Amino acid sequence: MPELPEVETVRRTLLQLVKNKTITDVDVGWPKMIKEPDDVERFIQLLKGQTIEDIGRRGKFLLFVLNNYVLVSHLRMEGRYGLYQPTDEKTKHTHVVFSFTDGSELRYADVRKFGTMHLFAKGAEHAAMPLAQLGVEPFSEQFTVELLEQAYAKTTRAIKTALLDQKTVVGLGNIYVDEALFHAGIHPERTASSLSKEEYHNLHKEIKRTLKEAIEAGGSSIKSYVNGQGEIGMFQQQLHVYGRKQQPCHHCDTAIEKTVVGGRGTHYCPNCQPRP
Ligand code: ZN
Repeated sequence: MPELPEVETVRRTLLQLVKNKTITDVDVGWPKMIKEPDDVERFIQLLKGQTIEDIGRRGKFLLFVLNNYVLVSHLRMEGRYGLYQPTDEKTKHTHVVFSFTDGSELRYADVRKFGTMHLFAKGAEHAAMPLAQLGVEPFSEQFTVELLEQAYAKTTRAIKTALLDQKTVVGLGNIYVDEALFHAGIHPERTASSLSKEEYHNLHKEIKRTLKEAIEAGGSSIKSYVNGQGEIGMFQQQLHVYGRKQQPCHHCDTAIEKTVVGGRGTHYCPNCQPRP
């Protein structure tokens, strides 16, 4: 599943491909993907004539900023955007096609059809679901050590579970939670409220650093993931614990262990991240 760094990389790449393009028509092959408005015909009519002014991001959502509307798109597990010409062969997994005045088209493909699109009047998107429930952005000024401390002061949940829920800070998924906790030296099963002030401080720092490094890795490796049609795939930079079960820790050579926390596969170094 794409996490914040991947979505940010998709955002930056897509923006270069579709900025200032004007939509002439939209073809929706899988109406269930369109969550707002609930009438797909209306979704299509509202988009006709709209120009893509910008693409923003909120958590793992892409925000296509149009003249009068904002299209909120979540890629979920397998969603992909690509810029094509109408003559390019279409895969059977292409479910939404935005045609532009210059003849090109933006295609949304999704093997598992879990992706979602919501269209809101500009300015209304942040007050409505799904964006309304989101916590702060990790690179915003609102993301502070104190925010983490206060949000988790009374929680009995594991720190990993608390970080995954997106209600305090957004953008961390299974991969980067494990990586950030590793760098902060915090065991993923620690009760969130049990962290010391110093540990909250380290965690806050490592969340930002881990995500920033991943975004930079995405930016540098982007050429190999954007094919001729501009289709953007996933990238993977070097990870320290995630997916490295039984392999030696990069810091201390201890074998990385894998467990399950809150139903999610979780990797950690038992030496660098001791249990209390
Ligand atoms: Zn270690």
